[in-house]
Formats: sequence, C-alpha cells, structure tokens
Amino acid sequence: MRLSRQFTVFGSAIFFVVIISLYLMLDHLQLDHTKNPSSGMDRSQNGQLSVLQDKIDHLERLLAENNEIITNIRDSIIKITDSVKDGRRAVDSGNFSQGPAEMLPSPPLVIPIDPEDCQFSTRPYSKSADGVQMLDVYDLLAFDNPDGGVWKQGFEITYDEHEWDKEPLQVFVVPHSHNDPGWLKTFDDYYRDQTQHILNNMVVKLHEDVRRKIIWSEISYFSKWWDNIDDQKRGRCEKSALIESGQLEIATGGWVMPDEANSHYFALIDQLLEGHQWLERHLGVKPKTGWAVDPFGHSPTQAYLLKQAGFSNMLIQRVHYSVKKHFASHKTLEFFWRQNWDHDASTDILCHMMPFYSYDVPHTCGPDPKTCCQFDFKRLPGGRVSCPWRVPPQAITDHNVQDRARMLLDQYRKKSKLFRSKVVLAPLGDDFRYTEALEWDQQYQNYQKLFDYMNSHPELHVKAQFGTISDYFEALRKATGDGVGSLTLPTVSGDFFTYADRDDHYWSGYFTSRPFYKRLDRILESHLRAAEILYSLALANMRKVGKSNDFPAVESYKLLTGARRNLALFQHHDAITGTAKDWVVVDYGTRLFHSILNLKRVIVSSAHWLSLKDKQMFNHDPSNLFLQMDDVQPAQDALPRKTVLKIGPNPRSLVIYNSGDQARSSMVTVYTNTPHVRVLNAYGQVVRTQVSAVWEDTTRVSKDAYQLSFVAQVPTLGLGVYQLCERAEVQTEPARYLVLQQGNDLSIKGGESFQVATSQGQTEPIILENNHLQLTISPITGLLEKLKLKEDGVERQMKVEFVWYGTTSRKDKSGAYLFLPDGDAKPYTSSKPPVIRVNRGSVFSEVTTSLTHITHTVRLYHINGLEGQSAEICNSVDIRGEFNREIAMRIKSDLNSKDRFFTDLNGFQIQPRRTMSKLPLQANFYPMTSMAYLQDPSLRLSLLTAQSLGVSSLHSGHLEVILDRRLNQDDNRGLGQGVLDNKVTANAFRLLLEKRSFAEEPQGEGNTPNSFPSLVGHMSYMHLNHPLIPMATGLDTAEVPLTPYAPLESSLPCDVHLVNLRTIQSKDEGGGPSEEAALILHRKGFDCSFSSRNTGLLCSTTCGKIAVDKLFGELTVRRLTPASLSLLHSPESDQSLHQITIKPMEISTHRLQLS
Ligand SMILES: [Zn+2]
Repeated sequence: MRLSRQFTVFGSAIFFVVIISLYLMLDHLQLDHTKNPSSGMDRSQNGQLSVLQDKIDHLERLLAENNEIITNIRDSIIKITDSVKDGRRAVDSGNFSQGPAEMLPSPPLVIPIDPEDCQFSTRPYSKSADGVQMLDVYDLLAFDNPDGGVWKQGFEITYDEHEWDKEPLQVFVVPHSHNDPGWLKTFDDYYRDQTQHILNNMVVKLHEDVRRKIIWSEISYFSKWWDNIDDQKRGRCEKSALIESGQLEIATGGWVMPDEANSHYFALIDQLLEGHQWLERHLGVKPKTGWAVDPFGHSPTQAYLLKQAGFSNMLIQRVHYSVKKHFASHKTLEFFWRQNWDHDASTDILCHMMPFYSYDVPHTCGPDPKTCCQFDFKRLPGGRVSCPWRVPPQAITDHNVQDRARMLLDQYRKKSKLFRSKVVLAPLGDDFRYTEALEWDQQYQNYQKLFDYMNSHPELHVKAQFGTISDYFEALRKATGDGVGSLTLPTVSGDFFTYADRDDHYWSGYFTSRPFYKRLDRILESHLRAAEILYSLALANMRKVGKSNDFPAVESYKLLTGARRNLALFQHHDAITGTAKDWVVVDYGTRLFHSILNLKRVIVSSAHWLSLKDKQMFNHDPSNLFLQMDDVQPAQDALPRKTVLKIGPNPRSLVIYNSGDQARSSMVTVYTNTPHVRVLNAYGQVVRTQVSAVWEDTTRVSKDAYQLSFVAQVPTLGLGVYQLCERAEVQTEPARYLVLQQGNDLSIKGGESFQVATSQGQTEPIILENNHLQLTISPITGLLEKLKLKEDGVERQMKVEFVWYGTTSRKDKSGAYLFLPDGDAKPYTSSKPPVIRVNRGSVFSEVTTSLTHITHTVRLYHINGLEGQSAEICNSVDIRGEFNREIAMRIKSDLNSKDRFFTDLNGFQIQPRRTMSKLPLQANFYPMTSMAYLQDPSLRLSLLTAQSLGVSSLHSGHLEVILDRRLNQDDNRGLGQGVLDNKVTANAFRLLLEKRSFAEEPQGEGNTPNSFPSLVGHMSYMHLNHPLIPMATGLDTAEVPLTPYAPLESSLPCDVHLVNLRTIQSKDEGGGPSEEAALILHRKGFDCSFSSRNTGLLCSTTCGKIAVDKLFGELTVRRLTPASLSLLHSPESDQSLHQITIKPMEISTHRLQLS
C-alpha cells in the first residue's frame, strides 16, 4: 500500500514536470511566433511555423490523451491528502493556507476529465424505426400554405360510414377554462372579475350532475381562491370531493402555464414545484397529465421536466400550421416525445398535438370552424359573443337533436381520422370561460342532450361523454395497448419553434419584447437561487451549532415563498414573453422588484449568521441589517445603481458570497468614497486592486465615488471575507484612460486621480489583451473588429456592428408577438462620431463606446483562468425616441459555419438550427435563453447571454441578437396595443471563441440533432449569470469578528450544477421551514473536443457520481432519499442514500436533511 503511494507520488511528480516542460515549450514557441509580426515574415519562416504548429497540435492531442493518467494521479492524490488531512477543517487550516495571497489551492493546468465522461457527447444519434426528427421535417416541408378548404390550413377529410361498426368511436369532451394570470388585466383584476366566479360556480354546477367534468391548470389562481374561501369548511370538503370523484382534474398543476421559449429551466422547475407543493399540502392530488394550449411554441425541455415530475401524458397546441398539417397527414399528432440526447428511451412521454388553429370551440370539435362554432352554446343568440362564420348555435331540443347530433358526430369522426386510435378528444372551452351560472347550463345541458342522443342510437357506433384530459389518455392507452399494441405510436424528437399561426406570421417578436423585464427575470432568478441555497445552509448550520432564536427563519421563509411565486407568475406566457398590457407589465415588474429586495434580506441575514465567528453575537435588527448589498434599484423600471461605501481608517468588512458550483476567482467591484483603499483578505494579506473612475457622463468624472475592483477568491457556495480601509499612501493602482472622438478635441472634467489622455485623430486600432485573448477595436467606430486567441496566434475577423430592422409596409405589422420586418436590416449609424473611452488597469481593461442609442462596453479581465477566456459585452440600449424600429447587435466572424447554428432551449439543452432560405427572415429567429453558437471544423464561437432574446444566423459566420423593439401598433393577437413602454435596458453577454481540438469533422456532424457546450462554455455562462455577491458591514461593526465559510469539502464535479437547494415547507400550521430541503442537481452534457486548459477551476469529472455524505464538510447528511422532480413521488424503499449517480443531462431530485 505504502509502496504504491510512493510510486504514485513519484509518478505524478515526474508527470507534472513533463507536462510543465511541454507547456513551457509550447509557450516559448508561441511567444516567438507572436513576436514576429506576420508582415515581415518570409515564406520559409511561415513553413517552419506551420510545421511547428502541427507539432503543437500533436502535443495538444497527447495532452488530451493523457487526461486519463492525470485523473488517476489526481484520485490518488486526493486519497493521500484525505488521509493526511484526517478530518481537519479546510477553512482554518487546509486549503486556505496555501500560496502567498491565494485563498484557494492552485488549480490544475488541465481539468481532469474522466474519458468516460466524454463518450456521451460523441455517441452517434440513432433514430428509432418509427422516429420523427423535427430537423428532417423542416427539410421536407415546402411551407407553401395552400388553401385546404373548410380546414384552411389542412386538407379535406373523408371517411366511410362503417368504419366504426366493429369498434365504436369514443368521444371525450373536455371542458376547460383558460385563465391567464395577467394579460389584458392584472392577475388580481382577472381574479376579482372572472376567475373567482368560475371556481365558485364550478362547485355548484358540478354537483348538479355527476357526469359533468372540468379541468383546471393554474394553481396561482386556484390557491388564491382556496385562501379566500378558507372559513367555509363545508365548502372545502365539497371541493376535495369533486377531485376525488374525478369530476375536477388538475392538469399540469404548475403555478402558471409557462412560456417555453424565454423561460429558464430553473424557473420552470420553480413554478412546477410551487404549484405541486401547494396541491400536495392542500388537496393531496398528484397531477399526471400536462395541458399547454396557449404557449407560443413548445420546448422539449418542458416535456422532460413533466416526465421527471412523474407525468405520463401531455398536450400541446401552438405548433406551426405546416407542421400540424404534416403530422395530421401522417397520423403522428400523437407520439412519444423523446429528448434528442436520450439513448435509452427513458424520456418518452405521450404527447397529443392539437390539430387545428386554436383551442377555442370552433377549432376543437373537428376541421370545420363554421360547424364547430354552432356547438359553442355560450354563443347562442342574445349573448355577448357570437359566431364570426355567421351561423349561430341552436339550443338543443327534441326536434333538432337528431340533426344537430349527426352534424357534430360528423366533425368528431373527421377529427378522429387524423389519429391512429378510435378515441377522440374534443376540448370545450376558451379564455375565462364558465364565469356565469348560465354559461354552465348552456354548455353542459345542451351537450348532455347531444350525448344522450348519440349514446342511445347504437347504429351511430359512438360513445360520447364529458371527460377530463386524463380520462382521454387512459382510454387512448387502452386502445393503443400503451403504444406497443396494434396502434404503435411514433417517437418524435426536437422542438416546436418558431411558431406561425397563419401566413408568414411568425411569433419571433416575443423572443425579445420588453427586454428590460427579461433581464430583471434573470436577476430575480439568480437572487432566488442564491437565497434558497444560503438560507438552507444557514438552517442546517443552526441545527448543528444550536439555533438562534433571533434568526428570522419563518419570516425569511415567507419572503422566499413570495419570491418563488412571483418568479413563477412571471413565467406565464404573457409575462416573460412581454405580451401583456402596459399596466400589467408594471404589475409584474413591481412584483419582481419587491421580490429582489426581499431576497436580498434573506441572503444578508443568512450570510450574517454563517460568517459570524461567534454565533452568540448574532442579532437581527430588521431596520438595520448587519450586512448591506452594495446596489440599489430605485424603481421597478430603473437600472440598479451602486451605493458608495464610506471607507475610513477603521476597517470595514466585505462579505462575498459565491453561489456557484465551483470555487471561484472573480472580480468584485464596489464603489468607494476614496481612491486610497487597502483591501486585505481573511489572512491579513494585501490584495491587488484597481481603482477606476465613476463616469457621470461621457466626459465627466465623479469626484465623490471611485470604482474599486479586486479579485476575490471564494469557495463553492461559500462566503469570503475581505477588509477595506483607507490608507493615505497610495496602495491601489489607478486605471489609465484614453478618451477619443474623431474630429473633436474633448475636454474631460474631473479625473485628477487618474491618468487621462484624449485624442481626436487616432487611426491605429485600440488593442486590449490578456493572457488568452487579444481584441482589436476600431478607433473610428469603437467596436470590436478582430480577435486573436493567444493559444494559436491567429487573428480572426470578429466584427461587431449594430443594425436596425423596420416593420413591413403591408397591412399586418410587427407587434408584441410578431416580427414582420421590412426586409434585411440596415446598418446603424450614429448621428455624430462616438465617444470612445479606453480604460486600462491591472484587474480589467475595457472600451466603452457611446453611440446615440447604445452605450457599448467590451471588457477583458486580467484574471488567470476562466474569467480571462471570454470577452464581456454590455449594452445599455435606449430607443425610446424611435418608432417601428428594432435594434440588433450583429457579430460577423470568418467562421465557415454555413447555414448551421445552435441555440439553447431554456438553458437546459442545445438545439441545432438551420437557416432556411425557403422561410421568411423572421422564421429563422429562435429564442436564446442562455447561449447561441456557430462552429466550423476548427472553431466554435459562442455568445452567452444574461437574458433571453431572439437570435439568428442569417449568413455563414454571422450571429445576431435583437436587443430591443419599439412598435407602434397591435399585431392582432388580442393584446390591442403596440410596444411603446421601452426602458433604458441593460443587457450582458460573453463572447467566447474556442478551438476545437479535433480538426476532422466528427462523423455525420451535418445531421446530428445533438450538440453540447464545452465545460468552459457552461462555466462562463454560470459566471455571467451568477456573479459574486458582495455585502458590506456597517461603519460601526468593526468589532464583530467574521470568518470565511466553506460548506463543501470541494467544488462540485465540473459537469454537475446545483440547480437548487430549496428548503421544503413544514407540514405544521404556519408554514415555516421544515428540516428537509430539495436537492436538485443537473448533470450537464458537455463536449470534450475543446481545450479545458487554464480554466483555473478546481473541479474534476466523476462519471456522475457524487458522494453526498462526504460533500458537505462540517454538516452531516441525516437523510438522503430520491424523489420525483416536484417531490410528489418517492420510490417504495425509504432507505437513505450516501451517494447519488446521475446520468448525463439528467436532473435528479432528492430530499436532503442536513445538520
Ligand atoms: Zn393564455
């Protein structure tokens, strides 16, 4: 044993020496290479270099192949250090004492990736025999939109009278009421005016006849109603009885019916969990069928989440009319929806795609809306609504029942011909239906007469009845033998974007509409995740060290619940989509804004507890919190502002929270009242800092505030502690400035503390560089032109420009939903030459370019590791003075990406796209929730985003993203207004260029529906969206000793993301926190054919194994049991686990008890 350990140590020492010499050699070669300007290089040198380049490539491959050896060595070292450490705590002794000013151990040169973990992304895609791949369908379709007759977008349907003689037609009429939690009215106004009446009437009207049924989806409304009838105990019993009897079914049971384009999977899970947890607590029901009739396009991510929550079935509606027609003609409207990356059919969920134009009654009974409208008895003459086809419904009487029943049956039969089984689904409802008692009577009584007639005439061979959506699926499964019988259903993989409901009306506008709030959504999301995790850790810590009566556990839990619900509400398909009325948008914005404020309170009180050296000193003063966040958002529609920290001679502490999955070295910036600040880490060592100016406008420097930036090192999910104090002698490095504007001699006001130069005629480009990248920026436009990876020294075109889209001059114009441009975009030109400000410092350098409508900043971090590998781009956009214009940022690279690009779905997975010339321009835009990328055989260019926006690649090598849109008119989808409430909007991105290490094109790459980000891509996204959170102590708290906090023994595996650690509500009255939390982990799929060198990360990969009992340093795992995604289902065996194994791409949920 000892021998093998010695051998390993010796072996690893030799190996590292070899690696380091190889690396130094490479470095040396590259240095030589870059020292020689290419202009003065002759051909033979060029040839030599290319030979060297080949050698370097070869060495790189060797390095990659040696990963396995590194992994083995790492494992042995971990074992050795484990035994050496012998239970000592990392914070006080182990990890933090290493290196002079380094809080974290030095990261390995190359991330140790287990070769097995690379296999997943390289496995070839295999389509099942009866499989449909959406990318193939798009290749196939002509998108020619011919007139189909009564079913305009389809075809004529015929049948033979006797088709049902042997096996009768089974009809399930499913009453539903679509309740938008905010759209033309706010959530509360809809509740007051409509929803409460629907639910009140439901209780009465369902009781009148046990054959009546209805389904309900939105728990945001249902729970509000339930709370309001709280004292009516008798009513309660009746209401649960309705569910038990099967008359009322909760379908999906999420907080809302979420948008599937802009929403991030964190928020999709949040809204599902919130709804399901409410249902379990109050009604004891477990939904099993999804119902999504109104989201504007459908994502397989939602299908996956429903599957993980234990669902068997789902229904979707808004799918491109050409796709619907294609599916109808192949009888594939019912299928098993399978994830693109699923190799073992474990993600299959039975899905019903509604065939026609809408979910209203005219488009659900059969193909002819003129006929179906006559069976919407709310439209009986004399009512408020009528049939636009000008034939009104007739109340059913003994005289007309035969005619009317046969007429309706004809529609049912025709609809049935589009499906493989003899079970037919006929939804019966619309927006906010069944508000009045009369409407209940009209629909239920007339339909019952029709059913009674049909069912009492055996020659019709039909059984018609009211049903719930699960009744339908149950009958379908029986008829199809669960899909494996005689009517085997196909599998479908891919997504249903971009939606068009008619003509060239593509719903790609809402991918960007109201971008201010799309960004605010992400800020709330990041704060909610950070707060959930830190709060759960604080409670666990209290269970261990003794609870403080002063800690606001219940109050914080209420704030968390409120924030969960407001984030959930905003995932509604008229909220995050930006498709609600102006005042409804303000209502959502106010909710998001207040929730962010509340979450900050939860984060600071948890951080206060955890960072205290002596927990006895904990004292919670709600009006004067111990820690304060350093930024303030003044109003729901304003951008956050940094507060200025007063720094005096007495040290002031800064507690910094890292909510990331890995230990992190990232820049933290705070504003201070003096440029003379010394920053010390927790061990009293001085930290390198940079002081930059705070600019009041393009040429004026603030005299009262300074930007203080430094690199903080914070452990995974932990807290770092830094001290700031004023020092007369200058210890900080002031940034150097160059401000230029062509043809204008600028005068800069203020800025005495800095070196500021101006120029009006600079022609040589502005170069920003760090160890990884060199950016070349035009001195005329102030925009990026070229990018060089230091790794290979090749300068590549990377031209950033802004462009305008107008709206078409035709009748139908762009609005909140639709993007109907007037052709290609026109170049954006600023009315006067931009003011370009170059800031150079030791921690970061940046160029800020002020154009009339945009302030554009490109920043490079001088931080080794991950932060240095990408360029950060921030735009502050203001198009409030424009009309019918949309502004986009376009990146023109020289990558040979052809017509292919990649966009993510809900931040969960990547969907390959193809730009198609047979489709109009607006059809080639897709939602970008977390990233989009382009690639050719040797490179990948990724744009990582901090907010959802619409994205496209209209030409090879180009990537463009719409930043904001201002539109004068309504686009006739019911909203009744344009989009004119634009705000000054901030958006942030990271631009990442990566070399693909295997030059040969992976086999069949052109066709595979799979693609995965690199680990660096995943991590850079995390850094952009979950930045370090600094919190400052008050001026009078210097005496309270604080200490860093590191809850985990190590970083999580590089490919594992902690989605949430969410404290579960206690079953007790009052609803405070329980001792359990939901541990939700996602094992990300990643592509290994990219360098994982110099990432500065301390993680490794582990084939999806996580030893949870060893993960939480000082905390003990009391219980760990698996559960379904929304915690409604648990396996029979109740045994507590020690280790979790997660398959690639899987999201796994466990109940976890720590103390
Ligand atoms: Zn809706």
